[in-house]
Amino acid sequence: MDTRLKIKDILTKTRPVSFEFFPPRTAEGIPGVLETLHELKAYCPDFVSVTYGAGGSTRAFTEEITFEAKRTAAVEVMAHLTCVGQTKEEIHAVLERLEAEGVENVIALRGDPPRGSTEFVPVEGGFQHATDLLKHIKTNFKFGVAAACYPEGHTESVDLNADLKYVKMKVDNGADFLVTQLFYDNRFYYDFLERARAGGIDVPIIPGVLPVLSSAQVRRFTILSGSEIPPDLSKLLDKYADDDDSARDMGVEYASAQVRELWDSGAPGVHFYVLNRSYSVSRILDNLTIPGHHRQD
Ligand SMILES: Cc1cc2nc3c(=O)[nH]c(=O)nc-3n(C[C@H](O)[C@H](O)[C@H](O)COP(=O)(O)OP(=O)(O)OC[C@H]3O[C@@H](n4cnc5c(N)ncnc54)[C@H](O)[C@@H]3O)c2cc1C
Repeated sequence: MDTRLKIKDILTKTRPVSFEFFPPRTAEGIPGVLETLHELKAYCPDFVSVTYGAGGSTRAFTEEITFEAKRTAAVEVMAHLTCVGQTKEEIHAVLERLEAEGVENVIALRGDPPRGSTEFVPVEGGFQHATDLLKHIKTNFKFGVAAACYPEGHTESVDLNADLKYVKMKVDNGADFLVTQLFYDNRFYYDFLERARAGGIDVPIIPGVLPVLSSAQVRRFTILSGSEIPPDLSKLLDKYADDDDSARDMGVEYASAQVRELWDSGAPGVHFYVLNRSYSVSRILDNLTIPGHHRQD
């Protein structure tokens, strides 16, 4: 089966369901990630993606999982790539390796400042913004390219209009589609979509959904991402603060309702932040019965 396919072409035919994984801290964790990927393959994802670590050996694991997913799971893959801690030449070399392995899709990101710092500073000879990385990729390679967007605004943005201006620049620099930061109130996605269209951004904007795995996890992630927790969800998180199993089951119901509404409103796909665990996303897709994405054993 030929899996060389650009996601922008998938988007013209269907509304993709996709899963995002992250590289483990040590090589011993790789088989576990691949096992989850194979389990979730039963739900026929249109593509999977693998995040790019903040540095060190996890970056090699990103490549390993990306290549393995293509080889053994025969599923389309989108490799994440950031501007953190690498020169343009080093990033170019990563792109060449991805290209040599037949990877067709990349999501171009800036990456976060290192822990404890609020300002992103590129290494000497590195890229400053995702827009610069995008331009480099489009000028030198044939990858299909995605970029990130933030329905509630990026945490460093002065305001939503400034943020939108840079999202538009990502699209002008070649982003075929956008994937959103997590959000728990669909209103932010609908508002962002409206502002994006009014601002001349016409590419598909795929909502990113993170099912609740535990109360503490959501509190931590939303502080980092700047996403609001709606009052009804906040109450449930308090209720299950010391009961992760119940929080996770509540999260399945919450995300099922969230995705159902997004899907019914015509969202061009859904990207699940899987966090390398199959339980929640399996249950959500069992609940939703999206055509082509129910369990195939
Ligand atoms: C779908 C998705 C996937 C992600 N995957 C990863 C991953 O694999 N690895 C990882 O480390 N992180 C990942 N992140 C997190 C991401 O790296 C951070 O959110 C980071 O802080 C911003 O990345 P960006 O690509 O949006 O940066 P940028 O687009 O560069 O934006 C960063 C800030 O600068 C502003 N800005 C943008 N362009 C310009 C410009 N040209 N001039 C001036 N200001 C500008 C923006 O408004 C924003 O405030 C992901 C986020 C999302 C939503």
